Amino acid sequence: MNSPAAPKTFHVKSFGCQMNVYDGARMSELLEAEGLSAADSADADLVVLNTCHIREKAAEKVYSDIGRLIKREDGSKPIIAVAGCVAQAEGAEIARRAPSVGVVVGPQAYHRLPELVAKAAGGATAVDTDMPAEPKFKALPGRRRQGPTAFLTVQEGCDKFCTYCVVPYTRGAEVSRPWSQVMDEARALIDMGAKEITLLGQNVNAWEDDGRGLHDLIAAMDKLPGLERIRYTTSHPNDMAEGLIRAHGEVEKLMPFLHLPVQSGSDRILKAMNRSHTTESYLRVIERVRAARPDIALSGDFIVGFPGETDEDFEATLRIVEATRYAQAYSFKYSPRPGTPAATMDDQVPAEVADERLQRLQALINAQQLAFNQATVGRRTNVLLERRGKHPGQLIGKSPWLQSIHLETEAAIGDLVEVDILSAGPNSLGGAEAVKQAA
Ligand code: SAM
Ligand code: SF4
Repeated sequence: MNSPAAPKTFHVKSFGCQMNVYDGARMSELLEAEGLSAADSADADLVVLNTCHIREKAAEKVYSDIGRLIKREDGSKPIIAVAGCVAQAEGAEIARRAPSVGVVVGPQAYHRLPELVAKAAGGATAVDTDMPAEPKFKALPGRRRQGPTAFLTVQEGCDKFCTYCVVPYTRGAEVSRPWSQVMDEARALIDMGAKEITLLGQNVNAWEDDGRGLHDLIAAMDKLPGLERIRYTTSHPNDMAEGLIRAHGEVEKLMPFLHLPVQSGSDRILKAMNRSHTTESYLRVIERVRAARPDIALSGDFIVGFPGETDEDFEATLRIVEATRYAQAYSFKYSPRPGTPAATMDDQVPAEVADERLQRLQALINAQQLAFNQATVGRRTNVLLERRGKHPGQLIGKSPWLQSIHLETEAAIGDLVEVDILSAGPNSLGGAEAVKQAA
């Protein structure tokens, strides 16, 4: 078999969570630092599929993508690298199932991507799913290009072991990046134009360094000149420390938005999920956060059809949604993941029952989202402009509550503008730049 030549161009395609988007950006920077240039997936010499293993459908996408890549119209054959959580979970099995894959690299080993690609270019299949003690972040080059919004991973892995979830197995144990490393990266991102930084972690509110918690980090970032907005995601209800809740009322740059997954409204199911919180403790956290920041927009994650979920359990989930009044939320049908305790539990819920519950839950969440958006009509707020819209002169940005707002404006991407919210749909708002009153 002919060995592929050393690649000159690359394409990184990220699936799944924001941490994967961040990892994808870091892989792109690493490959650029090695002299490769970015290209479309249709003609890049190296294609990195940065995969997600959280649900079965997400994991299967990688194989359909590989199928497309090996049937390019021009007959060219890229080096295919599978990165991310599917790579970690399936390892060398991927290359057995899809022999055209040259590199398999896990989320803790992608700083070694250039050596692995070199091996693949030499005709070998290179697999690295180590979780090395030496932190990958030190081995990565500095941050490069940036837009007005940036992700910054501060914490990785998870020790919570919810019974349905693969993350503790694919991302490893909970590790916080050191304070100075995070602050240096934040400054670099701001120097390159970031106005908003979202701090990321599977359990971001469990971040700690030498007795300092996430709220200390947020307070320090609040003082960085040039940074206008701070966000963080995803949080666990048990790690919502008092200091972090207070920060929502005290830190001006911390946006009024909190993504706090609860998963189910039934304490029996929460126990089976090993969530280690109850519906009551969750609602108490929500109450305290609302007391600190009354206009906060709340978001959550839900799983329906977890093994043993009865109609009553599901009704309890609808009730916690009604009680919380979300601005938006994600809901998923339970997907058994190999190797997790829930996958072998009795009483798996039939697919049609789970489908029907998902539809009912989503209808309720959508109605709440529309109501939240409609309640902001008439408000004047700031909007960070992020990208161009479909129409000439139209830009799209985000409100402090993470709503997408479309407006016609002469301002530029990256500007923070005052906007009057004029209309609301379920997924976006219409606005107009506020006319400044003469003094
Ligand atoms: N660490 C976060 C947490 O605890 O909420 C997020 C983890 S996960 C990347 C994002 C969401 O995927 C979870 O909150 C959960 O709702 C969903 N999820 C995880 N495993 C799942 C599974 N096996 N089936 C369906 N949804 C799942
Ligand atoms: Fe998965 Fe639970 Fe950890 Fe979230 S807290 S990453 S759902 S194990």
